[in-house]
Amino acid sequence: MKRLVDRLAAERRLPRADMLALLACEDAQTLAHLFARARQAREAVYGKDVYIRGLIEFTNFCKNDCLYCGIRRSNARARRYRLSREEILACAEAGYQMGFRTVVLQGGEDAYFTDERLCAIVRALKAARPDRAVTLSVGERSRESYQALFDAGADRYLLRHETATKAHYERLHPPEMSYERRMACLACLKSIGYQTGCGFMVGSPGQTAEHLLADLEFIARFQPQMVGIGPFIPHRDTPLGAFAAGTVELTLKLLAIIRLLLPNVLLPATTALATLDARGCEKGMLAGANVVMPNLSPAQAREKYALYEGKATAAGETANALSDLRRRMESIGYRVAVACGDHRSSTDGEGILTRKKGEHDPCTTPNP
Ligand code: SAH
Repeated sequence: MKRLVDRLAAERRLPRADMLALLACEDAQTLAHLFARARQAREAVYGKDVYIRGLIEFTNFCKNDCLYCGIRRSNARARRYRLSREEILACAEAGYQMGFRTVVLQGGEDAYFTDERLCAIVRALKAARPDRAVTLSVGERSRESYQALFDAGADRYLLRHETATKAHYERLHPPEMSYERRMACLACLKSIGYQTGCGFMVGSPGQTAEHLLADLEFIARFQPQMVGIGPFIPHRDTPLGAFAAGTVELTLKLLAIIRLLLPNVLLPATTALATLDARGCEKGMLAGANVVMPNLSPAQAREKYALYEGKATAAGETANALSDLRRRMESIGYRVAVACGDHRSSTDGEGILTRKKGEHDPCTTPNP
């Protein structure tokens, strides 16, 4: 098994049968070796730096009805909120003062945030702090919308593909949502020139090793700049509320494999991982992750943005959470960087100030 790990590290791929064997492997020595190789790959590209992203959960209104998600439109028990433009700008500025050079605006698919409103917010964020990267995570929109937001200054976009297996996608989503449309959105984002992130939940109900293999193959093909993965965590007010959560162990293994497939990828230790394990963030770093996304949302918003139950919300002030994070990263030999933290090969060392246009223009138009 160790030889498989070395082969994956050297060749950045594995034959399917070997990848399946690695996914099934529970041998502690092999896993320690896998994590060590993943750290080596990460440190060769990003050194010991941990990039932080200030997450602002700015709306939990959502028109979608994803079967796993606590803010799905059918969840009548969700208490809905949206932040005003002023609140968003104030959270981002407080984050900037603390050292956050990337802000991530994440929300449900909320029709209130038209292109006009969202572009104005992106422009204001860029005008206030030109050395700050803006990441959006607001779901499926039209090509025109993605282009307008990019032109307004958005640098990166997170849109998890959720699963690269159509049948599994259909198990997790209502009939009106489309696997093809989600994938078309991802291709579109990349072609526009966004640093693009895909990703999936680990241990979603009905997920098999074959599904995970398809996710890894998709990631290797798509070559995203970012990949977000975290364990599925049930939410009682959803149709999948009675299923078991994904595991920390499998999530860590997948983080390490993804790092070896894409050595340059920006790979967060996600909140869902930290929710299942108090040391999830450290463990994620030690498995090859290099990004953390602390929450900058106002306290009342954090509890309402409940995608799953028991979300680790770092009850205290963001400033305390950040100094705690700094300490924890130092305890494992890493350091929190004050930097935009762009994807390495997308910048030529100049960072977000030298944004490149996508080469493949135009892309297929998604039609949400
Ligand atoms: N509306 C945006 C943001 C979605 S929330 C979009 O469509 O991209 C961000 C991610 O949280 C989702 O992509 C999903 O993978 C994850 N998520 C949602 N519910 C979850 C749950 N119950 N457990 C773990 N992760 C969940």
